[in-house]
Amino acid sequence: MGGNAEEKVLLCYHCGNKTSMKKVAKHTYRDREFLDYENNFWVSYGNEWSIFFCPVCQNVTIEECYWHSEETGPRGEQYYNYRILYPQVNISNTTIPEKVVKAFESAIKVRHIDNNTCVFSLRKTLELICKDQNAQGTKLYEMLNDLYEKGVLPKLLDSMATLLRKAGNEAAHSDEEISDGLVSDLIDFTQTIIEYIYVLPNKLQKIQYHIEKQVSENGRGI
Ligand SMILES: [Zn+2]
Repeated sequence: MGGNAEEKVLLCYHCGNKTSMKKVAKHTYRDREFLDYENNFWVSYGNEWSIFFCPVCQNVTIEECYWHSEETGPRGEQYYNYRILYPQVNISNTTIPEKVVKAFESAIKVRHIDNNTCVFSLRKTLELICKDQNAQGTKLYEMLNDLYEKGVLPKLLDSMATLLRKAGNEAAHSDEEISDGLVSDLIDFTQTIIEYIYVLPNKLQKIQYHIEKQVSENGRGI
């Protein structure tokens, strides 16, 4: 706080810089609920959404802060639960293994700081996914290929994997820096694979559940 505008140090998932960002807008929702009318005991809770502006890349980040008056620490201090809603590189989805999340986030953190380290972390992320999916093979390319053959991954992603192999070899065997464009493509590619394997099946299950529910409800009426 301080001054007219609030500032907060955040990791920008657009450009990878950890920097102080100005809070340019916010919206607060709060509510309360009586638990015990006689003793006038009530709990309160709410959400605050904030938009932060990154001075390095001129993109915005949307943060959600959730709080509940009963969620307090040992000295009665209020707990606040923060999460980044946008950009959607925050992959803290419960269906994704924690190791995969950590490896991917460390790749994002060094983006624009060290491209070779970023690609190294992306390869590590993919390796962890392959192992989690019981892929056969010792090299990343072999493991990804195994996943295509088993139908876990669509063939469409094959050419990207070749690109990844090339980039990985470059990172390991040369002193040359991998280009920003290639790094962006590889981040997209890794994120697509994460979503395809861990997030999409869950989403489809939910859609299927809703469709079946609707069909059975309509069926009753006919
Ligand atoms: Zn930024």
